[in-house]
Amino acid sequence: MTVRKRLFGTNGIRGIPNEDLTTEFCSSIGKAIGTSLSGSTIAVGRDTRISGDSILSSVVGGITSTGKSVIDLGVLPTPALQYYCKKHGIYGVMITASHNPPQFNGIKCIDSDGTELSREDEERIENIFYDQDFKTVAWYAFGRVIPYISAIRDYIEGIISLIDAEKIRSAGFRVAFDAGNGASYSSTPLLLESLGCSITALNCNPDGRFTSRPSEPTERNLSQLKALVKAGGFDIGIAHDGDADRAVFFTEEGEFIDGDISLSLLVDSIIKSGDVVVTPISSSDTISRVCEKKGAKLIRTRVGAPIVSREMISRRARIGGEENGGIIFSDHQYCRDGAMAAALFLNLMAKTGKRPSELISSLDAYHLHRITVQLTRKWEDVESRFQEEVSGMDIDRTDGFKIFLNDGWVLVRPSGTEPIVRIYGHSKKASRAREIAEKFRDIIDRLQNHNAR
Ligand code: MG
Repeated sequence: MTVRKRLFGTNGIRGIPNEDLTTEFCSSIGKAIGTSLSGSTIAVGRDTRISGDSILSSVVGGITSTGKSVIDLGVLPTPALQYYCKKHGIYGVMITASHNPPQFNGIKCIDSDGTELSREDEERIENIFYDQDFKTVAWYAFGRVIPYISAIRDYIEGIISLIDAEKIRSAGFRVAFDAGNGASYSSTPLLLESLGCSITALNCNPDGRFTSRPSEPTERNLSQLKALVKAGGFDIGIAHDGDADRAVFFTEEGEFIDGDISLSLLVDSIIKSGDVVVTPISSSDTISRVCEKKGAKLIRTRVGAPIVSREMISRRARIGGEENGGIIFSDHQYCRDGAMAAALFLNLMAKTGKRPSELISSLDAYHLHRITVQLTRKWEDVESRFQEEVSGMDIDRTDGFKIFLNDGWVLVRPSGTEPIVRIYGHSKKASRAREIAEKFRDIIDRLQNHNAR
């Protein structure tokens, strides 16, 4: 019997077009999606990647051959497609590789409530794919392609309905915004314009080569935006990742606000006593302090936005998110949403009259230092030796290894989408967080080299 490789990772199917994602493969996945999911129509959209048209066409060819029609929403942020799915109660497919390098692309399936498809539903698609058990229809029953051009406008109106737009408009914020050539190139400027902001737009030309900056919104990758804000004259800097489900911010002074800090800040601004908040074990203890102070219950999960979303639904959580700038606001939808996060941040500034630097200085903050280590061998080969190395220590195995030390903790876990190990050093002091992360990076490197011999 041939082994059935899992196709869907933590964020859909990822790969390189014409290598992993061939037109034949994408068309078969489209057929499996059309066969598996219920309803007569499926919403589709894509980010700005160059292979997006080709992959989408192949997937759509497969879907329509099963008799289902697709509503093509064009280029838009993943959360805008999710919003459309939730609003209309239909399934969706997004062609995106989020923050991955430009040579990648991916296929992500969205449930009819706007959340990421459950693992059981993904498995059903995988089984149909491997069995080639596709539904086929006669020539007169093929699905059609229906373009819909107002999904972004609907999405922005949905966001604006949840904040005090009048107050934000009267504040007249000056915003520097960096789309990184990604899917938010028109949507977030539209949001900011609707909120009366003056906008200086950076990298808002859709360019799937991502030549201006890598699409992962880290401080290092956002040096252009940082320099722009530092030059003065702005109230805030905002940037997204490639498919704009995440947002990160710069203070009016051009200081990078870590995603972990903006998460804690937005949680603090929204929760009341008795509320439930969900975050993975990778977020710092800053959010724990915020929840303790407000009398809210904090639940920690494995790493992965879909896992946080599902937990939020089952616990009826008010807000949740990740330390990488992913904010999930339940009044809006149960998925990460970069534009919603940006709107909530502006709302907080307008409501309090405080500048970003003042807002973050009010937090009892911890530091996270993140390092990625390239895996030269399979993680499984390194894992058992690492386990021996740390045996006897205080370890939480919710996801990877979260190891508690006297003055902080470290999280060591393999990525679900790339051959890397992520290491998060955590402490009250930034220098100590870095030291912890580097120490464990050295351990992983040593174990990899040992195995290589
Ligand atoms: Mg993303």
